Amino acid sequence: MSRGNVHVTGVDPDLPPAIDPCFLNSDFDTIILLELLKFVIELGRTSSLSDIIAQRTEPGPRVASDNALISYIRSNAAGGSHLIGTAALAPRKFGGVDSSLKVYGTSNLRIVDASIIPNHIVSHTQSSVYAISELTADMITRSA
Ligand SMILES: Cc1cc2nc3c(=O)[nH]c(=O)nc-3n(C[C@H](O)[C@H](O)[C@H](O)COP(=O)(O)OP(=O)(O)OC[C@H]3O[C@@H](n4cnc5c(N)ncnc54)[C@H](O)[C@@H]3O)c2cc1C
Repeated sequence: MSRGNVHVTGVDPDLPPAIDPCFLNSDFDTIILLELLKFVIELGRTSSLSDIIAQRTEPGPRVASDNALISYIRSNAAGGSHLIGTAALAPRKFGGVDSSLKVYGTSNLRIVDASIIPNHIVSHTQSSVYAISELTADMITRSA
């Protein structure tokens, strides 16, 4: 649920953009990762797995309280090259695209890529981009 941002850094189009994903800006994301980490630690303690897992090296047995685990998450969580949502299919206040994937405030400019995905999907992104492309091609063909 954290919302990042992308901005130009100057008038030269070759300048790299400033990208801030704002990971873990949302408490919801932090709590989800906390619960996930606790679940995985617990899973490793089950009899069927504890026999084959020699020892828990990270984050270590002394990192046990919620606050300590959150601190561990904040220091170690990383993105997975699946950035989305910079032109989200969402209400106008978020500044992305409408239900026909047209940019708010324009009459015929569509965005058709991973940037329109409003919330992260529980999978890799590439096949969703293919699906978005196919659906939009149909939408454009029908409206032509
Ligand atoms: C290292 C890495 C590994 C990944 N592994 C997987 C994986 O295993 N499975 C999976 O499903 N997904 C994977 N992904 C994610 C997936 O590749 C992306 O989510 C997907 O490619 C996004 O598609 P897109 O069309 O939105 O953007 P892109 O594929 O980035 O396409 C954007 C295109 O726009 C062009 N472009 C940019 N600026 C301009 C401009 N000014 N004028 C003209 N053209 C421009 C670029 O050259 C590019 O061709 C991976 C991503 C990375 C970085």
